[in-house]
Amino acid sequence: MRHIAIIGSGPAGYYTAEAAQKQWGDDIRVDIFDALPVPYGLIRTGVAPDHQSIKGVSRRYEKTALTDNVRFVGNVAIGKDITIGELQELYDAVVLATGAPNDRQLGIPGEELGNVFGSAAFVGWYNGHPQFAGLAPDLSGKHAVVIGMGNVALDVARIMAKTAEEFAGSDIVGHALDALTSSGIEQITIMGRRGPHQIMMTPKELGELGHLNTASPRVDKSDLPDETEDAFLEPGIRKSVTHLRSFAAIPEDIHAEKPVEVEFDFYANPVALEGEGNVSSVKVERTEVEKGRAIGTGEFYSVPADVVIACIGYRTSPIPDVPFDERAGRFANDEGRILTGLYCVGWARRGPSGTIGTNRPDGYSLIEKIAEDMDAGLLGRIGKAGREGFDALASTRGIDVVTFQDWKKIEEAETAAARDGAPREKFTDIEAMIRAAN
Ligand code: NAP
Repeated sequence: MRHIAIIGSGPAGYYTAEAAQKQWGDDIRVDIFDALPVPYGLIRTGVAPDHQSIKGVSRRYEKTALTDNVRFVGNVAIGKDITIGELQELYDAVVLATGAPNDRQLGIPGEELGNVFGSAAFVGWYNGHPQFAGLAPDLSGKHAVVIGMGNVALDVARIMAKTAEEFAGSDIVGHALDALTSSGIEQITIMGRRGPHQIMMTPKELGELGHLNTASPRVDKSDLPDETEDAFLEPGIRKSVTHLRSFAAIPEDIHAEKPVEVEFDFYANPVALEGEGNVSSVKVERTEVEKGRAIGTGEFYSVPADVVIACIGYRTSPIPDVPFDERAGRFANDEGRILTGLYCVGWARRGPSGTIGTNRPDGYSLIEKIAEDMDAGLLGRIGKAGREGFDALASTRGIDVVTFQDWKKIEEAETAAARDGAPREKFTDIEAMIRAAN
């Protein structure tokens, strides 16, 4: 019998477990650890609450979770309850599927001002992540600035622009629903340092901005490159640019009917956040794009900002003694191999790119590598103690493990507490989750 420990119960973790089952069937035991008492990582706390169909993929992970050879080991923090070294003693392979939970920094003056947040914190707040549930952003001002032109920026702008009715059927947490639907925000500026041809937004997600009840997207026609140049774009981006062109064609009387404006500010490189105590504006340098790169023009202007959300990407949390690529913000690895017996997968391996589905081939290809290493004798010839060894250690340490069956009780309590039409009302604090599990 072989034993694999996977750290992180998000998409990368569960697809890797699924692949291990396919590879070895009954000859494998997989323990999926999570620091939280609840599974699914980004599916629960990253994917937008109004994108329930994407969250539906957790049903597939549940199938994997409910098999005898895969176990959820929740409420166990690596580095606090148990070290990576100890896990390596117990398991034949240890896989880091820890994602990229930390915000990249803008690295500009004023970043420390009040009401400036990274997207991990802000998204975590409206999705009820225990670490960020207490964020309490002040949304009473008129102007919000969202920095970055990726799908996370779109999520954040859309969530700030929606009305209470538009959250029907979502699992946005109550504290965020109240704050967002009573906010004073009238202008949301999505700020990108490059142009319309360099956006990272996918067409379906961008198109949603055109269908909001009380908000309309505004694109300045003069920012759009000549239409003939769209032909050179990769098809997905070309479709996204088509949406930008249709936003630029929205007539003024339609804008006038909608009190909230979501404005695209292209060629806008934020160079400082300004204000006293709280942020009040973003200082921007106008750019030109040359060979795909943003070059400053020396022209500066100011954009009013009562709240700023930087959606500029994420970094993996380093772990002591695990080689880390500082520049890329992820574990140093060769196709998922970090050190003998220690692997990474998903965002922890490749950085924060791709969709949920990208993690499936990632997980399957990592299991192929682990199988190669096993066959080559690199992981020893006989299996290690695995879950029995962990259970013995957990009981001597008094670690309060939350099992998948416990999670089902938490889930039941969240479903029972749901608002009308909502799938669940999430617990946002760990103690409450554990009480529900017991
Ligand atoms: P992203 O797609 O990499 O976009 C990051 C954006 O931040 C880019 O526009 C980038 O501009 C900008 N940026 C980076 N550093 C900056 C700086 N210092 N100043 C100004 N702008 C800066 O990342 P993301 O939006 O965080 O998304 C992460 C991944 O999750 C992506 O693969 C995304 O597609 C995926 N995701 C998918 C969905 C969905 O499918 N519904 C939803 C959310 C997220 P430059 O290009 O100029 O660097």
